[in-house]
Amino acid sequence: MSDSAHDVVVVGGGPGGYAAALYGASAGLDVAVVEKHKVGGTCLHVGCIPAKELLEAASVYRTVSRAATFGVDAGEPSLDWSAVLERKQQVIDKMMAGLSSVLGQRKVTVLSGTGLLAASGTVEVVADDGSTQTLTATSIIVASGSVPRTIAGFDVDGELVVTSDELFSISRLPADAAVIGGGAIGCEFASMMGDLGTKVTVLEALPNILAGCDAEVAKTVRRSFRKRGIEVHTGVTVHGHEPRPHRSGTVVSFGEGKQVDVEMVVVAVGRRPRTEGLGLEAVGVELDGRGFVAVDDRGRTAAPGVWAVGDVVDSPQLAHTAFAEGMLVIRDILGEDPNPLDYHGTPWCIYSHPEVAFAGHTEQSAVDAGFDVVTSVHRYMANGRAQILGETEGMVKVVAEKQADGTGGRILGVHMAGPWVTEQLGQAYLAVNWEATAADVAGLIQPHPTMSELFGETVLSLTGRSLHG
Ligand code: FAD
Ligand code: NAD
Repeated sequence: MSDSAHDVVVVGGGPGGYAAALYGASAGLDVAVVEKHKVGGTCLHVGCIPAKELLEAASVYRTVSRAATFGVDAGEPSLDWSAVLERKQQVIDKMMAGLSSVLGQRKVTVLSGTGLLAASGTVEVVADDGSTQTLTATSIIVASGSVPRTIAGFDVDGELVVTSDELFSISRLPADAAVIGGGAIGCEFASMMGDLGTKVTVLEALPNILAGCDAEVAKTVRRSFRKRGIEVHTGVTVHGHEPRPHRSGTVVSFGEGKQVDVEMVVVAVGRRPRTEGLGLEAVGVELDGRGFVAVDDRGRTAAPGVWAVGDVVDSPQLAHTAFAEGMLVIRDILGEDPNPLDYHGTPWCIYSHPEVAFAGHTEQSAVDAGFDVVTSVHRYMANGRAQILGETEGMVKVVAEKQADGTGGRILGVHMAGPWVTEQLGQAYLAVNWEATAADVAGLIQPHPTMSELFGETVLSLTGRSLHG
């Protein structure tokens, strides 16, 4: 491999790294990306994309199971797990080919190997065969992402105990599983596996699943899980597990003397930043108290000429925040004096069944922040399109600043649980982040019959007048 010089060298080709590379190249910069595995990162290979693909298989299974209610005789559905995994891989492969092609078109140099920050403005690349190459750059971006956290007593072996990294390639779905952690990953996996026939038990340490969501939204998901046979234990400590003879399963101990006997344990207790082996400290990049790369509000690290983006910094661990951070640091590198990102309004989407989507303050966080609030809740049960779909579980809740006459003023937060809410969040996200008032939004026309009408109706009620609800 030959040494080369670039304007920007990015270490890590996940959403943060490839967004910086594509955006930088589109602004005329000469960019190189160093990736030790495959471009696309966690998101494309063992994260967002495969998780949503498997959830879609679960959605198809649910739909076929109730086809008779539409007058369609589809028989009893059965599952071919290897075909499910094959389709998932096809989606990943197509997206990876697309990403590689667009990186090529933008003339981004993609180097296969492990990147290590060496002397100032230098990245060493070590290829799998041990050969090395030195890259020099005016600006370096660390985008090394994150890895699953694990817990003591649950050694990950890829069969009995798995994390999200292994779950996407298990050879068969277990008959029963314990999911440790009721966050985004835990709930998406519990929903998918539960719908495809696994008896799932979720074990969550906090009092509620989906911490950070509005309490009514979390309750809606929990109720739906219960109805579908997914057992949820909250406020429990997991003590350990005792494998059965021949490792055919294991018994997980939790809470006050409780046990659950399962074929598989899925550990979904958060992700930690990947900072080891990058030579960060040697070049003066500092970590914060939680082990993330410490950055200012433009992604600058303590080392001049080195920025960091994505899961390796302490911001919402989401692909779309990584994209936004990648673009922000390129604008900073270009000297454009960009506005820092406002993480408060980040859109969150969880693709369990029912789906969850929200942006801005929950009712509680708005009160805690000192707002006098008024809320409005409307349910999908009253929505025509949801009735047609046969998916009437869930609600839209809007939190607004209370005006002197009791009506809603500025929209502070929107929280949804229900059918396709991840696709309905767009206008709610704009309302929150554009600081629209209830009156602004209520004056807009919503298409009928759509599920997105429910957001319009929920906001309309905040004006003191309403149509259906
Ligand atoms: P990563 O995607 O982790 O990429 C980092 C890259 O850097 C990797 O390719 C790695 O191989 C490479 N690398 C690391 N060190 C080096 C080195 N020294 N040299 C060279 N290369 C290196 N987010 C959403 O927004 N929506 C979702 O629906 C969603 N679902 C998820 C589902 C699951 C199961 C998981 C695990 C995550 C999900 N996420 C989701 C989170 C999302 O995947 C991450 O926030 C996102 O991938 C972070 O991007 P990143 O570029 O910071 O890091
Ligand atoms: P998380 O932080 O969302 O949830 C982890 C959960 O595990 C928490 O509720 C925590 O209280 C619980 N927990 C921790 N230790 C525990 C223990 N010992 N016993 C029982 N419970 C324990 O993390 P995650 O679900 O692993 O997801 C990681 C990140 O990936 C998320 O923060 C999210 O940003 C991202 N992600 C996003 C999506 C999405 O946007 N749809 C989907 C999956 C993952």
